[in-house]
Amino acid sequence: MRSAVLGAGVTGLVIARELAKRGDEVVVYEAAPSVAGLVMSHEIAGTPLEAFYHHIFTHERHIRDLIDELGLHDRLEWLPSSVGIFHTDADGTGRVWPFTNPRDLLTFAPVKLRDRIRMGAASVLAPYLSDWRKLDDVPAGEWITKTMGRSAYEEIWEPMLRVKWSEVHDRLPAAWVWARLAQRAKSRDTRDMGEKLGYMRGGFKQLYDALAADLHARGVKVEVATPVRRILTRAGVVAGVETDSGAESFDRVVSTLPVPVFSSLLDALPPDYKARLDAFEYMWVVCVILTLDRGIQPIYWLNVADRTIPFGAFIEHTNLLPVSDYGGNHVVYLGRYFPPPSYSAEAAALATGDLHDIAGEWIRHIARINPEFDPSWVTSVAPFRTQYAAPLVQLGQGKRRLPFATPVDGLWLATMAQIYPDDRGQSEGVRLGLDCVRTMAASARGR
Ligand SMILES: Cc1cc2nc3c(=O)[nH]c(=O)nc-3n(C[C@H](O)[C@H](O)[C@H](O)COP(=O)(O)OP(=O)(O)OC[C@H]3O[C@@H](n4cnc5c(N)ncnc54)[C@H](O)[C@@H]3O)c2cc1C
Repeated sequence: MRSAVLGAGVTGLVIARELAKRGDEVVVYEAAPSVAGLVMSHEIAGTPLEAFYHHIFTHERHIRDLIDELGLHDRLEWLPSSVGIFHTDADGTGRVWPFTNPRDLLTFAPVKLRDRIRMGAASVLAPYLSDWRKLDDVPAGEWITKTMGRSAYEEIWEPMLRVKWSEVHDRLPAAWVWARLAQRAKSRDTRDMGEKLGYMRGGFKQLYDALAADLHARGVKVEVATPVRRILTRAGVVAGVETDSGAESFDRVVSTLPVPVFSSLLDALPPDYKARLDAFEYMWVVCVILTLDRGIQPIYWLNVADRTIPFGAFIEHTNLLPVSDYGGNHVVYLGRYFPPPSYSAEAAALATGDLHDIAGEWIRHIARINPEFDPSWVTSVAPFRTQYAAPLVQLGQGKRRLPFATPVDGLWLATMAQIYPDDRGQSEGVRLGLDCVRTMAASARGR
């Protein structure tokens, strides 16, 4: 069977590999000049570093298995992580609070003691909730306030939800928050109650290079810098794909593209399915990588809970990895998720503004985190933006979940929008790819 896979992020590469193992003749089409999708890399002093910060959690079995299968086990290291919140008190004083283990929560003074205890209990008990569907229509803020108390919501959760969901955090279902609590509980080290994060020394690029080499050895063609312009169908059956070089026939097409892109490539779809596709929106992200001649503060992952600071995440990568991996440079990511430009003037400015201007403005605010900071410490600035950073999750998201099969015979969909209530990530991409291939193989339609 001739199969086309659209997209060479982790999901597309895994699907191509599995189909090739099953004997298909496979071609992967990728719009970008190289493979890896959202795990694309930038170089610092000759070392590849993800343009958008990446690490993996201990419980993420699927990505760990893939790394092992490709013989890269020794590149993956488990490093002690530290998490914190930059919180500004009512009098305007800002302070970094460590939040690495449950003990830190108990000393977080901005939240009432009773609510701190409730919050600790909820994070231990939440994973035992059996059916997340009960929380799919419950707003996250309502559920958190009820289970953990108002001060826990206002001082910790609301600012943290804003980091990831910006102004659309009030549409978020409690099921998403529950899934995060369950995930963190699985990944916490029960001996010291801290957390270790996995990172491939020398960058995740090694994983994607190894995947591309593995596909090549299996006879899979990977066409980079080749955007698919149309998915061709004939009488409800997939016929092939069209690129700038012309049309190619395929018996099966599997799309791993963001849902709006997938929808735009098809002319004839049943109106109800098309309406389901078109209801999906995505969060954007701007991420700025700074190199500096010194560190800013001691924590790896700092959530910035202060609305007057324009970025929500301050990730000091060289508090996880040694500076020697990056030619002695300290490396910091400043990140900000935001909804599509139609949502607000601020979102529109972030979506269309000059990235270097945005970065310049953000850098000024680092002095709020470390008052001694001087912009002359910054030795390089590399800003990145993507329009498809994560599906925008809303109340009732579980009911909108799309199946792998589409109404077009031989056309399949495997995309980040199908993993809710889990959060999208490389491991979920691997799992999605494997599940999709199993579903195709078991399909009565046989393709
Ligand atoms: C800021 C940020 C931080 C993250 N942090 C982590 C983390 O710490 N750990 C983790 O595991 N994951 C993290 N992720 C998530 C992870 O990167 C994604 O879940 C994963 O890479 C998604 O892979 P994918 O293959 O499903 O999609 P993508 O990587 O989006 O791949 C889709 C591909 O389709 C291509 N494409 C688009 N249009 C066309 C077209 N017309 N024709 C052909 N190709 C096309 C795109 O160029 C892209 O390569 C993060 C993501 C972001 C944005």
